[in-house]
Amino acid sequence: MRAAQYRGAGTIAVDSAPEPEAGPGEVVVSVSYTGICGTDLHILHGHMDHRVEPPGVIGHEMSGRIASCGAGVEGLAPGDPVTVMPLVWCGTCAACRAGHRHVCQRLVFVGIDSPGSLTNRWVVPADVIVPLPADLDLRDAALVEPTAVAVHDVTRSGVVAGEKVVVVGGGPVGLLVGAVARARGAEVLVVEPSSFRGSVAREAGFEVVDPTSDDVAAHVEAWTEGAGAAVSFEVSGTQPGMSSALEVLGVRGRLVVVGIHAAAREVDLHRVFWRELTLVGARVYERADFEEAVRLLAVGEIPAELLITAVQPLDEAAEAFATLDAGGEVMKVLVDCREEQA
Ligand SMILES: [Zn+2]
Ligand SMILES: [Zn+2]
Repeated sequence: MRAAQYRGAGTIAVDSAPEPEAGPGEVVVSVSYTGICGTDLHILHGHMDHRVEPPGVIGHEMSGRIASCGAGVEGLAPGDPVTVMPLVWCGTCAACRAGHRHVCQRLVFVGIDSPGSLTNRWVVPADVIVPLPADLDLRDAALVEPTAVAVHDVTRSGVVAGEKVVVVGGGPVGLLVGAVARARGAEVLVVEPSSFRGSVAREAGFEVVDPTSDDVAAHVEAWTEGAGAAVSFEVSGTQPGMSSALEVLGVRGRLVVVGIHAAAREVDLHRVFWRELTLVGARVYERADFEEAVRLLAVGEIPAELLITAVQPLDEAAEAFATLDAGGEVMKVLVDCREEQA
């Protein structure tokens, strides 16, 4: 079989790899598709070498079918369509004991801290398997993991039907957050400077504001008839994004920090005080978020077709990374990891 390895210094190389075997409590998954995300690009550029030791197989957004089960695995059988919730927690730290295992202080993120899914077959603990309905397209199912991120973000916001929501950043995660908020009955406005991403957001049915040509705060004020938004999601990871997400909120608004901010940001705390705002952190997901993500994809609430820009074969994994890394007119890139591509 074949696997795409991160070789360090911006290099992905595809090579033959030994066939994995399922030990006790493990399963081997025949990987169908693996999505590449911003975290994978960070790894590619060497920013996470303290966690990914080259040569390492990465990839954590995937779909596939059970190939074989190790001893003691129950409820799963070869051929079952599945995805993986790529978190392994310790179960004993303070976060785990408080019931927040997804933010375990010793969390192992599968595909970063342990080998990932950019391969034909992948061995994982059976506990991380999430079954998929038979009628969910396995291409779309590669979006379950980022959709679960969005479900967690929206759940953390406490958004309810009828509320007006601003999503700052219209990349794949931003549009997934918008789609999940809409599925819960919210009205969604997306702030996005790229005309390509703005057009995808419009096609997905969202109101869009371009912050380079429009006054975002004034636009939101008019859109909410002076009230301000109930919830904003900062998905851009930038200072201007953070400032926008704060200034669009009305009284008692909630701001969810979704984007990964590499530097400390300036926040107008007077506004937080004056309007009684709430600042909410949201990281990865819990099992219920994953199950909700599967359901939303299965019922067509997620615009999967608009989000998947390209699908490239495993042997061209390096090109798939290059496509995403080049930016421009791209949302999500998937790698087709099937040994025999139909
Ligand atoms: Zn990811
Ligand atoms: Zn723990």
